[in-house]
Amino acid sequence: MDSRRIEGLWDCGYCDQKGILARYDRCRTCGSARSAQTIFYLPKDIEKAVLSDEERAKTSNAPDWLCDYCGSLNSADSMACSGCGSARERATKDYATLHSGTEINAPRG
Ligand SMILES: [Zn+2]
Ligand SMILES: [Zn+2]
Repeated sequence: MDSRRIEGLWDCGYCDQKGILARYDRCRTCGSARSAQTIFYLPKDIEKAVLSDEERAKTSNAPDWLCDYCGSLNSADSMACSGCGSARERATKDYATLHSGTEINAPRG
């Protein structure tokens, strides 16, 4: 099974910083934390975005997760929501990592 890991990017909603790596949960320019509304997207150059084994070792395999009940963004380590205490199994959204199975409609070249 292909388990390539592609690192998503996000844009800061406070300053103009774009393309912040998913591994950072704060803007590298102004320090603002990303929120539950933050939208992740794939980089233009997918091949370069695929993490090497070395890089993968540095990033968490388990992504951050979003609570379905209260919308709190929780760290990958916690098994229950820090906001409302809901068990993690209820969370279905993967906000930190985009996998290679994701459909990509970007034109080539
Ligand atoms: Zn910023
Ligand atoms: Zn919650």
